Amino acid sequence: MDNLEDLYQEIILSHNKRPRNEGVLDPHNLEAEGYNPLCGDKVNVYVRRNGDEVEAVQFTGELCAISKASASIMTKEIDGLSGKDLDAKIEEVLEMLTSKEEPEVDPFDLGELSALLGVRKFPARVKCATLAWHTLAAALREEGTVSTE
Ligand code: ZN
Repeated sequence: MDNLEDLYQEIILSHNKRPRNEGVLDPHNLEAEGYNPLCGDKVNVYVRRNGDEVEAVQFTGELCAISKASASIMTKEIDGLSGKDLDAKIEEVLEMLTSKEEPEVDPFDLGELSALLGVRKFPARVKCATLAWHTLAAALREEGTVSTE
């Protein structure tokens, strides 16, 4: 591995091979479906919320490598977050993936999330990377469905 790009690739591939928290969450009380017509990605995000506390998040879907890795990484990154902290995290990640200016982030602080930053160079793939995050936000807002178009 001689550069960051290779490392990013490695992280994406590893999440595709062994996605974290994939499957229908049982029980769940919030759910949203996300669709990215540009690529054909479909995701369902399931949330178990108890009062204000998010206890668990899982996903299923028909997803390309990037959208699947993003969903998998998401479920890890948000583990333990609830309420405003969770909303802030979602917003921060969406901003990081879609801002016009290169985000000023330290890849070492970001951990696996930094792997998703690689898509910024490929605008068509940005929607793959943001899909699960938009869908989680929709589930938390009890909106049901979301499309990236
Ligand atoms: Zn995709």
